[in-house]
Amino acid sequence: MPERNEKAKGPFPGRVERVRKSLPGWSAAGALFFGRPSIRYLTGFTGSEGTLFVGAEGAALLVDGRYTTQAAEETSGIDVITCRDRQEGLVGFIGDRDLADLVFESAALACDAYFGLRDALGGRVRLNPLGRELGGLRKIKEAQEIEKIRRAAEIASGALLAVLETLGPGEREIDVARRLEREMESRGSEGPSFETIVVSGPKTALPHGRPGPVPMAACGFVVIDFGAIVEGYASDETCTVALGTPTPEQAKVYAVVKEAHDRAIERVREGTPCRSVDEAAREWIERAGFGAFFTHGTGHGVGLEVHESPRISTRDDGVLEEGMVVTVEPGVYIPGKFGVRIEDLVVVKKGGCEILSSVPKGLKILS
Ligand code: ZN
Ligand code: ZN
Repeated sequence: MPERNEKAKGPFPGRVERVRKSLPGWSAAGALFFGRPSIRYLTGFTGSEGTLFVGAEGAALLVDGRYTTQAAEETSGIDVITCRDRQEGLVGFIGDRDLADLVFESAALACDAYFGLRDALGGRVRLNPLGRELGGLRKIKEAQEIEKIRRAAEIASGALLAVLETLGPGEREIDVARRLEREMESRGSEGPSFETIVVSGPKTALPHGRPGPVPMAACGFVVIDFGAIVEGYASDETCTVALGTPTPEQAKVYAVVKEAHDRAIERVREGTPCRSVDEAAREWIERAGFGAFFTHGTGHGVGLEVHESPRISTRDDGVLEEGMVVTVEPGVYIPGKFGVRIEDLVVVKKGGCEILSSVPKGLKILS
C-alpha cells in the first residue's frame, strides 16, 4: 500500500500536519483528540463520537461500529479502526504501538473518561493535558471556512430581517424564536448555532435569558441573539430592537452600547491585542457611567463552535491575526429594568475587518 501518497490526499492534510509538527515541542509521541469539532476540523468526520490519534508517522480514527462506514467515506489518508468499546479500544491501540508520552485534548474529555483511561493504562503512559495549544489550533480560518461562516451569517441576518417585518407586541418570545429558526432553516441553515435568545422587557437585563411563553409588551426592548450553521460552521449576531418609543434612559443606553460597538469594531485589525478591542468598548461604557453593567467580555472567536478561541477580553493576552473570525458584542444590563446588546461577526483583515452579519445596528423602533 502506498501509504505516504494516500496521506497526501487527505481532505485537510495541512491541518493534521500542523499537529504532527507540534509533537516534538509538546514532547509527545502523539496527540489524542476527543472533541467533535476538533475531529471534524482535522479529518472531516462528522459523527458524534470518536477518538483521533495523530502520531509522528500516521493518524488513526477510532470509532464504534455505528460509524465505520461513515468515517471511511468522510475521511482519507487516515486509518479508520472500529472498536466495540472506546476506552478498551484506545488502551489496546496505545499498547500495540508502545506509546509512552501522549498529549490529549483535556477540555473535551469528561473527568470519568479521563480517570477510567488513566487507570486502564496503569501508569505505563504519561497523559499530558493540552488546553490552550489545542484551543488555538482553529483560531485562524482558511478561506473556505470563512466562506461557510459568511454564508451562515447571511442566512441568519436575512432571516431576522424577514422576522422583524411582522414582529410586534403580543407575540410570545418563544414563538418569535421558533419563527426565526424556521426562517433560517428555510434559507439553508442546518440548525440554530446555539439556543436562540429572544427576550423582552426587564428580561433583556439577563445576558443569556431564555425565551418564554410570555407575550411581548407594547413597549420596551427585545434582545434577539441568534445564529445559523452552514457545513458545521456557526454564525452569531445580536440585535436589540425597541417596541414602541424608548424612554430617554433606554435611548441613551442604546446609543452608548452602539458607540462602544462601533469603537471596538474600529479597532479590529491584524496586530491589535485582543484586550485592546475589549478596552475600546469598555472604556466608552465606563465613561458613560454604565461600566458596572457591562458584565461580560466584548467578544469571542466563532467557527465550528460558536464560542472558540480567541477571546476578545482583558483576559486574553493574544493578538488578532488575519483570518480570525470574532464577534464584537458589548452590552449594558440594568437589573430589573432593561438590557441592550449589539453584536456583529467580523473577519480580521490586515488593515481592518469585514463585517459578516448584516442587520443594520441603528436603533430600530417597531410599533
Ligand atoms: Zn450572540
Ligand atoms: Zn456571541
